Amino acid sequence: MSFSTLIGNNHNKQILQRLLQRDGLGLSLIFAGPDGVGKRQFALTFAKAANCQRPPATRDDSCDDCPVCTRIQSNSYSDVVTVQPDGNYIKIAQTRALTDDIQVRPREGKQRFFLIDGADRLREEAANSLLKTLEEPPPTSTIILLTSRPDALLPTIRSRAQRLSFAPLSIAEMETYLTKTSQRPAPDTKLLARLTGGRIGQATAIDLSEYRRERREMLELLELLASGNNKYRLVKAAEHYGKQEREAFERMLNLLLNVLRDVFLVAAGGVDADVVNIDVTDRLQSLAEKNGLARLMEWVKKFDELRRNLNININRQVATEAVLLSLAK
Ligand SMILES: [Zn+2]
Repeated sequence: MSFSTLIGNNHNKQILQRLLQRDGLGLSLIFAGPDGVGKRQFALTFAKAANCQRPPATRDDSCDDCPVCTRIQSNSYSDVVTVQPDGNYIKIAQTRALTDDIQVRPREGKQRFFLIDGADRLREEAANSLLKTLEEPPPTSTIILLTSRPDALLPTIRSRAQRLSFAPLSIAEMETYLTKTSQRPAPDTKLLARLTGGRIGQATAIDLSEYRRERREMLELLELLASGNNKYRLVKAAEHYGKQEREAFERMLNLLLNVLRDVFLVAAGGVDADVVNIDVTDRLQSLAEKNGLARLMEWVKKFDELRRNLNININRQVATEAVLLSLAK
């Protein structure tokens, strides 16, 4: 993607585009923000714009089409180098290799870029070996430290690089992004935008049909609970979910709590922008009407307690049965 098609984090976009209009870069930058908000894509777009063979007259964007842009986007351009943690940490051998390599002039392009992924995992000695380079990178090289935990960066690193903070997109921005980049039916786009929480990177990780299948199960369970007088079926449900592996059990419980959060929101103030499961509002509304706030609070409390108790290795089937039966009318 080019700067003109990237959505969100406009302030950072403007800063980077202004930097591109200077002669030479030679910068040390920190891209800070939660996982999946587009830090890496911004870094790649910056590198593309600096090396593009057919840039716009303003020289502040990439064409996204020339061989250089294409290769940078697919991580196969020798002047854009990524360093990642080797195991748990970025080790001194890796930073030494970087400080040597960075002195070399661009191999094929105009500007070289060194992306350090997970920069908060630089071991202290590795970080120390980088300080001098960070302070004064060669004019043809830019170092970008990417991190979701900027506070875990060593102060010596933080003070030597300019920090740009990245935030998740708003739901409206996310909808625009998804509409531009894929061809989903509108209800899918709306739901997916909400499920990602504005993190672009999440969009490809979510399988909507699988999500809807599991959500249907949880909605049915809540509806069963709301209808009362179904002890036998609730015991059966507890048996079914209690027998699942812990990971699957926890996923379903999280999903149930998220749906319940929506029901609670609807009960408290109607369908508003915070409701995630926007495509099943009729069912959320019916659950809200049947139960009322006090009862819903009780449900949230009990299911949340069940989730917390997972850490103490409870018998999941017994605990789920106890919760379901205590909540049935
Ligand atoms: Zn290009």
